[in-house]
Amino acid sequence: MAEPNLRDADSRFWDVAVRDGGKCAYCGLDGSGDIRILMSFQLDHLKPRNSGGSDDADNRVLACYVCNTEKKDWDPNEGETEQLSREKLVEKVAEYIKKRRGEHLFYTALYGKLKSKVVLESVGRRSISFQEE
Ligand SMILES: [Zn+2]
Repeated sequence: MAEPNLRDADSRFWDVAVRDGGKCAYCGLDGSGDIRILMSFQLDHLKPRNSGGSDDADNRVLACYVCNTEKKDWDPNEGETEQLSREKLVEKVAEYIKKRRGEHLFYTALYGKLKSKVVLESVGRRSISFQEE
């Protein structure tokens, strides 16, 4: 669940951010070195609130915007006969997100386009700054 406007006042965000090392629990995107990336992260309820998940820190993970958007209210424990460990739940969500991203071919194609544009621009910028030196 996203809590974008509570961040400054909400120490729960920072408690989880510190515990999780500033990384998205699902894809590993590292926001620890860039406050702009970290601030775009959200707190996700591993087991969604509407499936009876608690609001405790144990049930919260740091998630990047893309992962949290893909996961939404999916319950990784659904269909299991027993309660999975926290580690297993995170693993299952990571797999689920990976699969969903692969299914979003349009999105993946656009990302590829963006990525090559960014690479070209950063190469261009480097050659400009080299010439100025
Ligand atoms: Zn992520």
